[in-house]
This record gives sequence, C-alpha cells and structure tokens, in this order.
Amino acid sequence: MSIAIRLRQLRKTFGDVVAVDSVDLDVADGEFLTLLGPSGSGKTTVLRMIAGFEQPTSGTIELAGVDVTEVPPYNRDVNTVFQDYALFPHMDVLSNVEYGLKVKKVPKAERRQRAEEALASVRLADYGSRKPSQLSGGQRQRVALARALVNRPRVLLLDEPLGALDLKLREQMQVELKELQRAVGITFVFVTHDQEEALTMSDRIAVFDAGRIAQIGTPVEIYEHPQTPFVAGFVGVSNLLEAGVAATLLGRQGLWSVRPEKIRVMLGSVSPEGNERAAAGVIREVVYVGMSTRFIVDLDAGATLIAVQQNSHATSSEVNAMRGQRVTLMWNTEHEIPVGS
Ligand code: ATP
Repeated sequence: MSIAIRLRQLRKTFGDVVAVDSVDLDVADGEFLTLLGPSGSGKTTVLRMIAGFEQPTSGTIELAGVDVTEVPPYNRDVNTVFQDYALFPHMDVLSNVEYGLKVKKVPKAERRQRAEEALASVRLADYGSRKPSQLSGGQRQRVALARALVNRPRVLLLDEPLGALDLKLREQMQVELKELQRAVGITFVFVTHDQEEALTMSDRIAVFDAGRIAQIGTPVEIYEHPQTPFVAGFVGVSNLLEAGVAATLLGRQGLWSVRPEKIRVMLGSVSPEGNERAAAGVIREVVYVGMSTRFIVDLDAGATLIAVQQNSHATSSEVNAMRGQRVTLMWNTEHEIPVGS
C-alpha cells in the first residue's frame, strides 16, 4: 500500500488558539478518508495545511513520499473543492472546467477533450454551454468537482462540499460522490461535521476532538468500538452506562454503551431469555419521527437510554400513548460495547 498523504506531529496555532495539535495521519493511495468533528475541532485547518493555504506551526506534510511542508499550494499535486463552488459566473460550464488547464497552457484541443470527459464523469455532458446561474445547486457542485477532476490530481480535498445542499440532494450526492471516487481512483480527503455522511461515504474516518484525532478507523470500527465517550457520543447516540450502572445492570466493569437501534421496548415486565439483557424503566419521552420512533427511557438502575424502533406497524397515536408507561428494555448482550475512557 502506498501512502498518498503523511502528516507527522502537525500543529497549528493562531495566537493563543491551538487549532490543530499532534496530528499523525497516513492516507493510503485511492482511499476515501473523512475528517469528522464538531465545529472548531480543526478539520478545515488540517485540510488547508495539506493544500498549502496554511503553513503549519510545526510538523511535516508529505505527499506521495515527498516532503511538501514548504512547497507553495500551486506546486502540490492536490485540488480543493469548497462548499461555495467558487465558479466563474460569466463563463459557461465548459469554460469553467477548462480554466485550470488554460492557466497551465494545455493545448486547446486537449483541454477541450479533457473538460468534456470530466463533465461526463459527473453526468453533465450536455450542460457545457450553460452558465452556472442556469444550474441547480447539485449541478453546480458537480461542475466544481469536474473542475477539480480535470487536473487529474492525485489527491482531492473536499471541504464540506455538500453543506449547501438540501437533505435529499445531499444524500443523493453522497452516493454519487462515492461512486465517482471509486471510478476515478483518486485519494479523497473529505471534511464534514455530519456523522451519517461520514459513515455513508468513507473507507476510514478520523474523528477530531479539540484539534486532535480522537480515533481513526473504518465506519464499523468507529461506530461499534468507540474508544472514547466523545467518539461514542459524536458518532451516533451514545447511550452511556457509567461504571456504577454497568456494574449493577450488566455485571461488567468500566464504561459501556448500547446503540439505540439494538434496544427493543416491551410494555410491562418481561423476563430475558438466552443472551438477552432486560432493564426495567419508565418512558419519559416519545419522539415520533415518521419512519421510526425514539423512546427516552429512565431506567430504575439509574441511567437514561434512548431506544429507536421502526414504525412498521405502530401508528403515531399508539406510540404517543406509551409516554409514562413502565417498560422493559431488551437487547442482546453481544450489543453491549465497551467505551474506552
Ligand atoms: P468548522 O466545521 O466550523 O469549519 P473546523 O473543525 O473545520 O470547524 P477549523 O476551522 O479548523 O475547525 O478551526 C479550528 C480552530 O482554529 C477554531 O477555534 C477556529 O476559530 C480557529 N481558527 C481557524 N482559522 C483561524 C484563523 N485564520 N485565525 C484565527 N483562528 C482561526
């Protein structure tokens, strides 16, 4: 496996603010890596340092084995796609896509052909003569992608590129972008604060917490084996069982979690069978969200857990009537996951 990007002890301070601290990261060639974290956790600053727009306070950046820490942005084999597209409004779509090649003095016939190929790769082959203002938000974002892809960079950096799109379009673009990345085989580094987006698209996710990487791993590793309470809480609903409750309820030491979709809500008092665990409590709140219902349950043992059930049969009035009822929460013990602290 060759390494496209290698960050070592990367640090960036702005005055007193430590934006990025002690970041070590290897991104493999052709990998889709997501930097996930809350606002202000340092994701964008890492991306800008890889692009060369920001100089690290200390540490090194290698691209394909070459130290580029001191190399200016235009001499790095990377391209960046921003949330706001930054298309030229007076140029048509094809000219927008061709622009970078024109600057690089690529001959006209070649640049036309490459621009058309890039537009076809984002399914906009027939839109070359339109102005950006004549496109939808999703189409504009695809033009921005084509404009980056036309340069055939080894690495594409994407800073919340779907942030301006409505939810439906955003979900559609997530699938498209992942397919495109697979097809072109370029290394993608993708910044988002949306955990579902990260889980959907990434080969691996680096979860950022206050300028540091709290955990890095595949979506399954991050979701099923969170190494800190922060990761458990940021990626999904944490449902933490603190040491005291875990000891009483599970007979286990340390901090544990059970994901909400693994928990069944049964009315009344039910005894567990086989590998099941049962926890008695009272439904404090019911949140009907169309496809599913979220139950917030105060357990007799002391913790509060959230359980999510598909609304395959139940109606909204049925689930709403469950507020205040005594219930038994049931889950399989294999879904009890340890959370590192
Ligand atoms: P968001 O999702 O909101 O973009 P982020 O995780 O990308 O957040 P960064 O933009 O990298 O976070 O910011 C990390 C920290 O560095 C924040 O505290 C931010 O205020 C600070 N910061 C970033 N850029 C600058 C700057 N040019 N000058 C001063 N402080 C900055």
